[in-house]
Amino acid sequence: MLTKTLAAIAALILSGAIPSYPQNYPSKVITIIVPFAAGGPTDTVARLIAVPMSESLKQQVIVENVAGAGGTIAANRVAKAPADGYTLLIHHIGHSTAPALYRKLPYDAINDFEPIGLINEVPMTLVAKKDFPPNNLKELIVYVKANKDKINLANAGLGAASHLCGMLFMSAIQTELTTIPYNGTGPAMNDLLGGQVDLMCDQTTNTTSQIKAEKIKVYGTTTLKRVAALPNVPTLDEAGLKAFEVSVWHGLYAPKATPKPVIDKLTNTLQDALKDGNVKQRFAELGAEPVALNRATPQALQKHLKEEIDKWTPIIKKAGVYAD
Ligand code: ASP
Repeated sequence: MLTKTLAAIAALILSGAIPSYPQNYPSKVITIIVPFAAGGPTDTVARLIAVPMSESLKQQVIVENVAGAGGTIAANRVAKAPADGYTLLIHHIGHSTAPALYRKLPYDAINDFEPIGLINEVPMTLVAKKDFPPNNLKELIVYVKANKDKINLANAGLGAASHLCGMLFMSAIQTELTTIPYNGTGPAMNDLLGGQVDLMCDQTTNTTSQIKAEKIKVYGTTTLKRVAALPNVPTLDEAGLKAFEVSVWHGLYAPKATPKPVIDKLTNTLQDALKDGNVKQRFAELGAEPVALNRATPQALQKHLKEEIDKWTPIIKKAGVYAD
């Protein structure tokens, strides 16, 4: 009788009707969904941590780009995915701004996810195509105000960090520009390099090498402290936009109700990835700072997400920016 019951359970597990016991996790490939296009900053962070995560889990961790609607399509996909630890979401600050920006968000940014941990903090940079005339922030402000009908600003859609940063820049200089949305700032950077768009705000993960190679112009960084990888670039605050501050943070999430042993394993794995020599070196070269290990935890991510929602909601409401 017992043998028959065990055989029946085993058959159900093998058929996928009930998930295998979390102790066996992971027994198949894990997918990290990136909410923006390949080649951009979020994609870069995901691909960097996926390598040591694969090693630590002894299982392949792959990255899939599900771009669109400022990251909300990917978040919705993961919110509705099976809670088995095989589909994860990497998302940034946009996970905390979407609830205020989208009137009809098809998921709950807090309650539809199990947080795994914070990953890193990344400053942004305000950059322009190489032959854009202004040479510093003061000149930029004068030039943008005088030519506002001709200038466009690229972003990765409503809800992207580039959108938030661009919105704060336009509000700080009280000038509206035409915005051009992309599926991620990877493709937007290609157009900036090609001179098809004029301006963009983007993470240092995507801009540092282009700035160093002088393929684009930079007007400032968005954190109050200068970025170690770009020591000669002033902060926007010191260059004249007082208190201008956006720091992009990334977090890793699983669908709600993913078993605790699975989340614990993923948290340990994330911490292993943040200790990895290559991850540390690439983050440093790209101006990204890994979080302290005690912040690469579910509790710290949950707390930070809630604080960021509380911080950005009134700012976005005041700006009156919405998507349906
Ligand atoms: N940096 C982009 C943003 O604006 C997203 C990306 O392509 O990673 O949020």
